[in-house]
Amino acid sequence: MTNRPLFDGPFEGTERAAGIIARVQDFLHGELAELARAHGIDHEHGADRALLQQVWRRSHAQGFYGMTLPEPMGGLGLSVLDHVLIKEAIYASGSPFAPHVFGELSGPPRVGALARQATPKQMAQFIVPVAQAEMAICFALTEAEAGSDAGAVQTRAVLQGDHYVLNGRKRFISGSPFADAAVLLASTAAEGAAEREVTAFFVDLRAPGVRVESGYKTMAGQSSTGDIVLDGCRVPVGQRIGEPGRGLALALGRISVNRLLHCPAMLGLAQVALRDARDYALQRRQFGRSIAQFQAIQHMLADMATELAAARALMLGTARALDAGGAARAETSMAKLFCSETAFRVADRAVQIHGGEGIVQGRRVEFLFRMLRMYRVLTGTSEIQKNTIAKELLDAA
Ligand SMILES: Cc1cc2nc3c(=O)[nH]c(=O)nc-3n(C[C@H](O)[C@H](O)[C@H](O)COP(=O)(O)OP(=O)(O)OC[C@H]3O[C@@H](n4cnc5c(N)ncnc54)[C@H](O)[C@@H]3O)c2cc1C
Repeated sequence: MTNRPLFDGPFEGTERAAGIIARVQDFLHGELAELARAHGIDHEHGADRALLQQVWRRSHAQGFYGMTLPEPMGGLGLSVLDHVLIKEAIYASGSPFAPHVFGELSGPPRVGALARQATPKQMAQFIVPVAQAEMAICFALTEAEAGSDAGAVQTRAVLQGDHYVLNGRKRFISGSPFADAAVLLASTAAEGAAEREVTAFFVDLRAPGVRVESGYKTMAGQSSTGDIVLDGCRVPVGQRIGEPGRGLALALGRISVNRLLHCPAMLGLAQVALRDARDYALQRRQFGRSIAQFQAIQHMLADMATELAAARALMLGTARALDAGGAARAETSMAKLFCSETAFRVADRAVQIHGGEGIVQGRRVEFLFRMLRMYRVLTGTSEIQKNTIAKELLDAA
C-alpha cells in the first residue's frame, strides 16, 4: 500500500512538492530511521534534547527544517496545498521523528508568522537562530483558567522602567521541556481593568525567575509538554512583540491556516493505522483462514478507507480555498473537526482488527489510538470548532 491508500489519482500538488516528498522520505526511512534504531527511539521513547538538536540540524542541512518559512526568511514560500501534502507524507511514514523534520513543536513554524512584527534585534536574537536550528522556541498561551477562552490569561506583565515583570503560570506548553525560549502571551491590562489586553513577548527560558516544570505525561505517553512558571521574571521592553494589546491578534492571526495544518498530521497517522490494520488482517489466521476474509473485517477496512478519503478531500479542498485567497474560517474548522474525529475512528477500528494484540502496549495501533484521541482536544476542541462553524453559518444569514 502506498502512503495514499485508494488515492491513486494524479498527485494533487506541484512537481516541486513531489520531489520534496521523495527526498524527505529518503531522509526519514534512511538517516532518521538509523538514528532511531541506534538510540532506541520509538513513539513511546522520545529523544533527549541533544538528539533532537541533531535531528533539527540534519533536517536544516537537507533544506527541510525551514522550508515552511516565508521566502524572505529562507523558506520556500510553499502553497498551503503543497505544505499539507508534504506534511501528510512525513506523518504517513510512521517515523517517531515526524514532528521534528519541520520543527513543529519548537522550530520555524513557531516564529514564521512573527517575522513582520519582529524588530531587527528580535530577528537576530530569536527568529534567525530558530530558523537555523540553533535555538528551540515554544508557544505559550494556555493557562489553568485560560484554555478554550484563550483571552482570559492571568499571567501578568507589569511595565517597570525598561523591563516588564512577569508573574504567572503557563500550562500544557508543547516543546517547553527542551525549549530555550518562548513566545509567551501575558496580560498587560491595568489591575482591575474591565477590558482585556493581551501582549506577546519573547521570553528567555534560562533567565532568572523562569522555570519549566515537566513532570506529567500526556495519554500518548509523551513528556514533551510542560508548564512555564514565571516568578518575577524581568523581560526587556525590547522583547515585546508588536504593540501592547496585539498579542492575541498576533498569536491567532493565522489561526485558520494553522488549524488546517494539523490535519495532515492526523490523517498521515490514520493512514499508518489503516496500513497496519490491513497488514494484520491479511496475516492473522482464525477459523482456518485469514481474518481479512471475514466480511466484518472487510467492512471495517472499507469504512476506514472511505472516511479517510472523505476527510482528505475536505483537507485538500480547504487548502485550495486558502491558496485562492479565501478566509475559509468555517472550512478550516470543519476540516479540523472532521479530520480529528475521523482519524480517531480509524484508529479505534484498527485496534479492533488487531484484537487482543491491539490493546497491548507497544503495538503501534495502540499508540496511534491514544495519540489520535488527543487531536480532538488540541488546538481548539471539536466543540470550539462547531461554535466557529455555527457562527459563520448564522452570521451569513
Ligand atoms: C498535549 C497538549 C499540548 C498542548 N500544547 C499547547 C501549546 O503548545 N501552547 C498552548 O498555548 N497551549 C497548548 N495546549 C493547550 C490546548 O490548546 C488546550 O488544552 C485546548 O485549547 C483546550 O483548553 P482546555 O484544556 O483548558 O479545555 P477547556 O477550555 O477547559 O474545555 C473543557 C471542555 O469544555 C468545552 N468547552 C469550553 N468552552 C466551550 C464553549 N464555549 N462551547 C462549548 N464547549 C466548550 C471544551 O470543548 C471541552 O470539551 C496543549 C494541550 C495539550 C493537552
